[in-house]
Amino acid sequence: MARDERGVTPQSEDFSSWYNEVVTKAQLVERGPARGTMVIRPYGYRIWELLQADLDGRIKDTGHENAYFPMLIPESYLKREAEHVEGFAPELAVVTHAGGKELEEPLVLRPTSETVIGEMMAKWVTSYRDLPLLLNQWANVVRWEMRTRLFLRTTEFLWQEGHTAHADEAEAMEETLRMLDVYERVSREMAAIPVVPGEKTPGERFAGAVKTFTVEGMMRDGKALQSGTTHYLGTNFAKAFTIQFSNDAGHLELCHTTSWGMSTRLVGGVIMTHGDDKGLVLPPKLAPHQVVIVPIARGEQAQTVLDAARELATRLKAAGIRVHIDDRPQLSPGFKFNEWEMRGVPMRLEIGPRDLAAGTALLAKRLGNEGKTAIALDTAPETLLTALEDFQAFLLQRATDFRESHTATTDTWQDFTTAVATGWARALHCGRPECEDEIKSETAATPRCIPLDGLAEAGVCVRCDAPSAYGKRVLFGRSY
Ligand SMILES: [Zn+2]
Repeated sequence: MARDERGVTPQSEDFSSWYNEVVTKAQLVERGPARGTMVIRPYGYRIWELLQADLDGRIKDTGHENAYFPMLIPESYLKREAEHVEGFAPELAVVTHAGGKELEEPLVLRPTSETVIGEMMAKWVTSYRDLPLLLNQWANVVRWEMRTRLFLRTTEFLWQEGHTAHADEAEAMEETLRMLDVYERVSREMAAIPVVPGEKTPGERFAGAVKTFTVEGMMRDGKALQSGTTHYLGTNFAKAFTIQFSNDAGHLELCHTTSWGMSTRLVGGVIMTHGDDKGLVLPPKLAPHQVVIVPIARGEQAQTVLDAARELATRLKAAGIRVHIDDRPQLSPGFKFNEWEMRGVPMRLEIGPRDLAAGTALLAKRLGNEGKTAIALDTAPETLLTALEDFQAFLLQRATDFRESHTATTDTWQDFTTAVATGWARALHCGRPECEDEIKSETAATPRCIPLDGLAEAGVCVRCDAPSAYGKRVLFGRSY
């Protein structure tokens, strides 16, 4: 089939080109004028808003409160936690001049907010009665990335960052895992991405963390996307910022803190988990338009059909369905079908005079059952609610099957390299950073996580034959 102007490069030919073409043609995002920045267009921003609203509800349901901290952070703050500044130094954007003169102290555009929030926590926490302190902020952050890619790695991106302070390690660890569970559910239930929750190996930890946890999703090119991370920070930031409390015996103790974040990156994850050669495929829960109605009629009948489409849309809206009528008169139905396929709309309804006379509309799903089905207009809201729910479940199952069929348990180096060429490998590893580096330079694969649900197992490292670490298998893959 000839590729027309609206089509995209097939995934199998060049996944990266496919991605870049889809994000543009589906009208999600555009490159910004400054290097590595992105403009999120209304259709892409709506996806983010739907995700954000759901995640915000879950963050509040687990007892956190939203606040807002400044984007400009004194440079000296970052230097207080040695590992933190070392980890972030190469990515910092620093303001040295303002108001027409050089600043006495440079200001950093926040790459993350542990430091400024730590400074405030030290003010707000004095007694054990002030704990736990459970904060979240929705914000933009700036990280000067070498290689940028829209949604996945941009100089500025949107996210939420949770920051909490606790009386002891057990409580802080419980919080770290609770929020990991929230990220797993959001990914699975909203984005239909069957992520694997697990712990990062020491080499992949957040700068300044004692433990880092992650949810990893598999994209359709077999690569992994880290979709959200949670960190147990121990007392590292509490020491650096003097976040302490007097316990019930009146003695001063350092707080144990956590931080956790999920970002606009997940929108990129949705695109790469579900999209196909016709373009974007959106899970209904994140689709700006769950159903698009295309009225098809000319001349005298046009108004009658359009009125019927509007009446149907009103009933679908009342049932809680996000519906859009494509009544642009100058465009052909075929053009509209292609456009909504490219933009990933889960369900399309066509209504013409003959359908109307029969009391039906033609339903076409973006994926799954090929072809069109006539559905009764009377019961359309119920029919579509069920169809949308089924479609959401279908995408999750399809992604789960894909992940399973592209993940192998490997015990030899040869099997390992074969597995990570197209997907993931579960392997025993010695835990040595130099060995991780060797694996990375030879195969481009890195340890994605030590899955939480992995079975206890020991043996020798798949790469170097040294005794295995962690007591279970590590998941390896190439990643974004
Ligand atoms: Zn090894």
